[in-house]
Amino acid sequence: MYLKCNHGVTAYDDYGQAVCPICGCRETATPDLTGRIARCDDCGRESPSSVNLPFFRWRPELEYDSYYCGCRGWD
Ligand SMILES: [Zn+2]
Ligand SMILES: [Zn+2]
Repeated sequence: MYLKCNHGVTAYDDYGQAVCPICGCRETATPDLTGRIARCDDCGRESPSSVNLPFFRWRPELEYDSYYCGCRGWD
């Protein structure tokens, strides 16, 4: 689940509702990943965008989403 502000959901309030810790917004959005490509921030490897990619970040304002492919290990 993503908040409309695209900071990612990392916090929940006392009622279990997603809330952005950065800007405080609560509006959720479902990413439309159809036809989008995610690029590894480190090596540039491309993969079809999926919320299941490790460290996937939806970047609707950019041409490519980003993720981390594991090229530098996982530690
Ligand atoms: Zn936010
Ligand atoms: Zn990589």
